[in-house]
Amino acid sequence: MWTNRYWQAEFWTLAFIIVVMGLIGSLFDRAAACIAVIIFGYLVWNLIQLSRLYKWLVKSRALYPPSAPGIWGEIFNHLYVLQRKNRKELKKLKGIISEFRASTSALREGALIISNQGEIRWFNKASEKLLGLKASTDIGQRLFNLLRHPSFIEYEQARDYEKPLTIHSPADESLILNIHITPYNNDQRLVMIRDVTERYRLERVRQDFVANVSHELRTPLTVINGYLEVLDPDMYPELSKVEKPLQMMRQQALNMGHLVDDLLLLSRLDAKEPSLGGKPQLIDINIMLDSICAEARVLSGEKSQTILFHSHSSATLTGSEKQLRSAFSNLVFNAVRYTQQEGRIDIFWKETQNHLVMTVKDNGPGIEQEHIPRLTERFYRVDSGRNRSQGGTGLGLAIVKHVLEMHDGYLEVDSTVGKGSEFSCYFPKSS
Ligand code: ADP
Repeated sequence: MWTNRYWQAEFWTLAFIIVVMGLIGSLFDRAAACIAVIIFGYLVWNLIQLSRLYKWLVKSRALYPPSAPGIWGEIFNHLYVLQRKNRKELKKLKGIISEFRASTSALREGALIISNQGEIRWFNKASEKLLGLKASTDIGQRLFNLLRHPSFIEYEQARDYEKPLTIHSPADESLILNIHITPYNNDQRLVMIRDVTERYRLERVRQDFVANVSHELRTPLTVINGYLEVLDPDMYPELSKVEKPLQMMRQQALNMGHLVDDLLLLSRLDAKEPSLGGKPQLIDINIMLDSICAEARVLSGEKSQTILFHSHSSATLTGSEKQLRSAFSNLVFNAVRYTQQEGRIDIFWKETQNHLVMTVKDNGPGIEQEHIPRLTERFYRVDSGRNRSQGGTGLGLAIVKHVLEMHDGYLEVDSTVGKGSEFSCYFPKSS
């Protein structure tokens, strides 16, 4: 502090005056009184400067500070520089806020900021249209009181915002909204609302189209199958010349039947039809896997594969028996189809700390890593020519993925070329 020249000047001036006044006072035998008067005067002067500073900082809104000599002038100057800097920062921040407001107003997505208790702190223009909010009355209200949608309240209370929530708009039933909540700053949450009505409409059109085409194909297919059954070379010897083409036609008609069935099942899974598979029920997975295993041995036939079921858990699953049987059969029958003669297939039902797991492990040809992320896409085949000849529809793993999603589960694939593959279905333990 004392290295500052203003402080030094202040100190020496005061010291000089005290010494001079002390000397003058000592001439009249009043040295202490003179020094006391000087100190008192110095105190009064400082109080005056303090009061000027207070008035400038608190009462007056003037930009320029009062002028003063010595150290007080220096203090006023420093405060003035600081204040100017603050005003500049404030102006910059105001600019950023108004730009942010303008850009969020232009957003098509609704954006809201709510507190941890759900009180609305701010929302943009699009939220007014999408949720029917009004700036004049709804700021400060709890969003969950205004949006009394049961699934929204459930979504909010679960506090698991990994996936967005899809609901109908409370302001307009024809609008379908995707709501995504992101917590930030410990006590705030950003709610983003997107209008996905058009996407849903197109998805619905696609689902209806696939469902209708599959349905329409069933009738001609039944007729073709009927005629093919009648065209039996044992009954009509003249047909023996075309026996092979007839057999191929029967096989292809059968494949087409499976394809139509899989397409229909997939479109119903896609539409998340609640009636599909009936009411959720308690399923004994051990019994189910035992019977799938028996069917797999029949399918394996001349391939003479070793097919074993290892049960390490007696846990049951709650869900659709039909869907789960379809998913597990797909995995087991794939293993039978793609594993070589006398290969080995092991099926496991076990528990980990958080999951119930069904695994199908084979020592077949395996799948190259690059194909694994795409296996559950519709009609994705690793080797299309060869796999079609195995009788697969190309929809099996897509069906598995959907069924698992319907049961809050997921699929994991692990495979090494030349060694074999492992397909595991994970289900949360609570289901
Ligand atoms: P597909 O009806 O062709 O079997 P899927 O959707 O069931 O269709 O399977 C997709 C592809 O994954 C198959 O075409 C096949 O190439 C590969 N695949 C599935 N399971 C196995 C397996 N156990 N071993 C090797 N490849 C497999």
